[in-house]
Amino acid sequence: MSFDQLGLSEKVLAAVKSAGYTSPTPIQEQAIPHVLARRDVLGIAQTGTGKTAAFVLPMLTRLEQGRARARMPRTLILEPTRELAAQVEESFQQLGVNHKLNVALLIGGVSFGNQDMKLTRGVDVLIATPGRLLDHTERGGLLLTGVELLVIDEADRMLDMGFIPDIERICKLVPFTRQTLFFTATMPAEIRRITEQFLHNPVKVEVARPATTVDAITQSLVKCGREAHDKREVLRKLIRSAEGLKNAIVFCNRKRDVATLYRSLLRHKFSAVALHGDMDQSSRMAALDQFRKGEVAILVASDVAARGLDIPDVSHVFNFDVPHHPDDYVHRIGRTGRAGRTGTAISIVSPSDQKAIGAIEKLIGRTIEWQGTPPVVDEPFGPQEPVRMGARMPSRGGRRARSSGEGKPNEARSGEGRSSEGKSGEGRSGRETVAASPKAASAGGGKSGTNVTPLESARRRQAARDPSDDIESYLPAFLLRPIRVKAKA
Ligand code: AMP
Repeated sequence: MSFDQLGLSEKVLAAVKSAGYTSPTPIQEQAIPHVLARRDVLGIAQTGTGKTAAFVLPMLTRLEQGRARARMPRTLILEPTRELAAQVEESFQQLGVNHKLNVALLIGGVSFGNQDMKLTRGVDVLIATPGRLLDHTERGGLLLTGVELLVIDEADRMLDMGFIPDIERICKLVPFTRQTLFFTATMPAEIRRITEQFLHNPVKVEVARPATTVDAITQSLVKCGREAHDKREVLRKLIRSAEGLKNAIVFCNRKRDVATLYRSLLRHKFSAVALHGDMDQSSRMAALDQFRKGEVAILVASDVAARGLDIPDVSHVFNFDVPHHPDDYVHRIGRTGRAGRTGTAISIVSPSDQKAIGAIEKLIGRTIEWQGTPPVVDEPFGPQEPVRMGARMPSRGGRRARSSGEGKPNEARSGEGRSSEGKSGEGRSGRETVAASPKAASAGGGKSGTNVTPLESARRRQAARDPSDDIESYLPAFLLRPIRVKAKA
């Protein structure tokens, strides 16, 4: 199928041509005619599938009729993070070159005043993160009663980040008769409930998950010790020896590890930038820009900062930390091998990552090769029964071998929530990952053998503790002191 069979306007088709798109992607082919026919659309698709253009192109066509009024945007796009919002704005700039539309971005971390001024001029397309949008409506500077089309993008990430109550509030502020386009990569129960409540007879459009498209990516595992400095050394060797490395994203599970690793790479004379949720907006954009333009070769990032970003042509992805959640692995490695290119993804695996690797292999339906000899671990089965790391683990106590990052839906795994609109801390939860529980942290921390008291076992766990472990796995020293009970006289 070609773009001119989809019902798009001449201006839009000309822009598509100058963007170099030759044929529509499956989500564009399936969604665009329905958007133009003013149907609600439920799109199950992830970034990398061309879903942004699937709503931008028909919106541009639709917006050719009518004009904007002050403080009453005609269309509204909700994005979970500032970077994604900025990326959608870029799409409007690129694909809307032949249109004179007012596009405004309402995101946290930048001045209210400028945003307010833009709103007074009248906005055709408003792209916003939920928190900042509600701040503007609460101050009375923004009326959503003129919204004809609402896009809710990356809805499952909104759920992860605790944004669903905000989304519900916003849906009640826009007219009941609006058209809604709703995009999500997965359909957990809470998302299903929202779609049932706010979509009117939607057309469901579904495209393949990246999990099925990882064939172009060469994946491997590299063993390392438990300590953070071991990992850093392994990473440096990998970067120095990686074949065909042009640029790389290095993922860490925690914000503070991003900062530490970034500083360490600079000390070792690597060309690197960092991207994590505690950085202010301008530093985040500057870092991304430098990486995109090829001014620096390495981007050290956390999941929250990097998920969904379209960074073309990344040759390597390194998992400095194995992600707690297997879906994050798929997202991370999906940063490479994009648009028909090949890519390399290497994960640095410490002894406590065995469960996480098992869960990842289960999700992607294949085993990941080790570089060099695979480690043999004697935990938790004892030396007489060695287990290759990453092999399926029999469930213990009836629980499925899943990562500790998986909790109740609103135990945000990652977050850039309303609080992120302020200076620091991202996400309603204020944390970037759910830390490994003390139990999980200790699981790989050395089984103590027989006849070991709980105190001794805690001490050993403490001794083996990875300094990068989160606060919840930290046992204060005074709790490890032996208790002396005075004998009665
Ligand atoms: P998205 O899934 O929206 O993040 O898009 C991923 C990338 O695909 C972006 O760099 C788009 O510019 C690109 N893209 C979107 N649609 C097409 C198309 N029809 N042909 C080629 N590239 C596309």
